[in-house]
Amino acid sequence: MVNRLPRTVRLEIQRQLEQAGLESARWESRVLVETVLELSGGQPFPETPLTPAQLERLETMTARRCAHEPLQYLCGTWEFFGLPFAVGLGVLIPRQDTETLVETVLELRRETSSTRLLDLCSGSGCIPAAISAHLSGVTGDCVELSPQALPYLRRNLSRLAPDLQVVAGDVCSPPPELLQKQYDVITSNPPYLTAEDMTHLQPEVTHEPEQALFGGGDGLAFYRTLTPLWKPCLAEGGWLVYEAGMGQAESVLQILEENGFVRCRIVPDLAGIPRVILGAAAKKSWK
Ligand code: GLN
Repeated sequence: MVNRLPRTVRLEIQRQLEQAGLESARWESRVLVETVLELSGGQPFPETPLTPAQLERLETMTARRCAHEPLQYLCGTWEFFGLPFAVGLGVLIPRQDTETLVETVLELRRETSSTRLLDLCSGSGCIPAAISAHLSGVTGDCVELSPQALPYLRRNLSRLAPDLQVVAGDVCSPPPELLQKQYDVITSNPPYLTAEDMTHLQPEVTHEPEQALFGGGDGLAFYRTLTPLWKPCLAEGGWLVYEAGMGQAESVLQILEENGFVRCRIVPDLAGIPRVILGAAAKKSWK
C-alpha cells in the first residue's frame, strides 16, 4: 500500500475482498476503513494519510475478512434496532430478522407504563436492550449461560439498558430465585438450527458459537423445554414471544397451544418469513 490515503487503501481492500469472493466487497471495504478511522457510516474520508498503525490494523482485518471471519466481529460493534452493540468471538451477531420480535413486543406493550421483562438466551442483549430503549419502565432479567457471551451482555446492558439485570445461568435448569418471579413478557431467540442446517452453514456463521445456533436434531429442543418450564413465571395475560427459523413457526405455535397458551399467533419478518410466535398465559385458576 504505497499511497496511504484512505480512499486509495479502501480500493485496495475492495480488490482483495473481491478476490476472496465476497459479494459486498465495496461496502465492506468502506466499513473497515470507517472502523479504523472511527467515522460513522457515510461520512466522507479525510484527505490525510492513514498512520502506520491504522494501516497495519486494516491489513490484519482484511486478511481475517478474506478468511470469512464475520465483518461484525472485526468491527467490534454492530447496529441493531438503531443501537450499537458490542460483539465479538463467542457471541451471536444480532440479525435484522430479530427486529420483528422486538417490534412485536413494542406493539403488545405500547399502552403500558411498566413492563417486567425476562429474556432467555440473551447473547449480546440486543432484544432486551432494544425493547427497553423504546418502552417506558422496562425492568427485568436476562439469562445467558456462555462465559464468552456474558461480558458482551453485561457491557451492552450497562450502557443501553441499565435497569435490566444479567443472570448467568442455564435457561433449561433455571436458578430457583428466578422461577419465583413474575413477568409481563418473556422473550427468547433460542438456538434453533437443525442438525441438517449445521452441516451447511455459511463460512461466516461457522465462526459464531455453536451453542447459540444448534437447537437439537429438529431445532425445536429449546421451545419444548422452555415453554412449560417458564410458563409459571408469566403474570396473568403475560406474553411468551419467540423467534424461530424458517419452516418452524407452525411447530412452535403447536408447542405453545399444547402448553395451554391462548391467543397464539405468528408474525412474519420483513422478508415475509413466518418468524415470531407468541401466545398469552391464560387466566390462572385460583384453587
Ligand atoms: N438466525 C440465526 C441463523 O440463521 C440462527 C440464530 C438462532 O439459532 N437463534 O444463522
